[in-house]
Amino acid sequence: MSATLIDGKQVAAALRAEIAVRVAALPYTPGLAVVLVGDDPASAVYVRSKDRAAVAAGIAGRTIRLPADTTEAALLATVAGLNADPDIDGILVQLPLPPQIRQQAVIEAIDPAKDVDGFHPMNVGRLHDGRPGLVPCTPLGVMRLLAFAGVPIRGARTLVLGRSAIVGKPMAALLTNADATVTVAHSRTRDLAAECRRAELLVAAVGRAEMVRGDWVANDAVVIDVGINRRADGTLVGDCATAECTTHAAAITPVPGGVGPMTIACLLENTVTAAQARRG
Ligand code: NAP
Repeated sequence: MSATLIDGKQVAAALRAEIAVRVAALPYTPGLAVVLVGDDPASAVYVRSKDRAAVAAGIAGRTIRLPADTTEAALLATVAGLNADPDIDGILVQLPLPPQIRQQAVIEAIDPAKDVDGFHPMNVGRLHDGRPGLVPCTPLGVMRLLAFAGVPIRGARTLVLGRSAIVGKPMAALLTNADATVTVAHSRTRDLAAECRRAELLVAAVGRAEMVRGDWVANDAVVIDVGINRRADGTLVGDCATAECTTHAAAITPVPGGVGPMTIACLLENTVTAAQARRG
């Protein structure tokens, strides 16, 4: 058996086109501000692609670049300015931040109504309560991929591998809210392979290159590989050994080209959602 590949590039392109239609129907231009502190090359690449995608969808992108030695007070003042700016609907502060700045203080300073990353405790609480709010982009992208691929979620025995605040925890909450039966595994889990084998739906977000082997995957399971790991030769691999898993799974997301493209598409979706909620 060979698994169907779930093409994230195709789904993300369709979602971006849908967002562009939503934006074109609005009587205003939604605004997304991305704040980049320092000159980390990977962060700079992410920020450029977020800006390009925003503009292509008809969203006004504004990138604010601050030097690496920016103080926490100066960054908080920038965030306060964006909170008060009526043209800005979404604020994203690119993480990680330099060590002199407390990440959580910055996250908590963002107006929850403009928190398009969905990291503010108010939005985290809403998600865990199953109430509407802004949801972190990567797990939201996974939900959109599952819907596109027609994967049944209600009642599905699901393993979320990883419990970070950015991916694993919100992923588990979204799947629980969608009526999956969710187990969360992490570095202290005993017999991870056996936990994985029980899952009908496996979402891997550990950041360990090809850790999930083919014989960890149940026959006909759906495997969503969130991991992005760069090998010494520069190539990207996921958290799952894709070729091996393909022989067991019914469907799997490739890396690259699976979950990755969905993250930016969902950032745009969150920006439009925030704009409509704020501006009516
Ligand atoms: P993270 O904050 O480092 O969290 C990793 C999680 O995996 C932790 O909960 C950790 O457990 C668990 N873990 C680590 N090693 C393990 C092991 N050997 N066995 C079992 N569990 C283990 O990472 P993250 O931010 O969630 O990201 C995870 C992966 O997704 C990374 O490859 C990242 O690059 C990728 N990612 C992709 C996107 C995208 O757009 N596609 C977005 C965000 C992240 P403990 O909690 O016990 O330490």
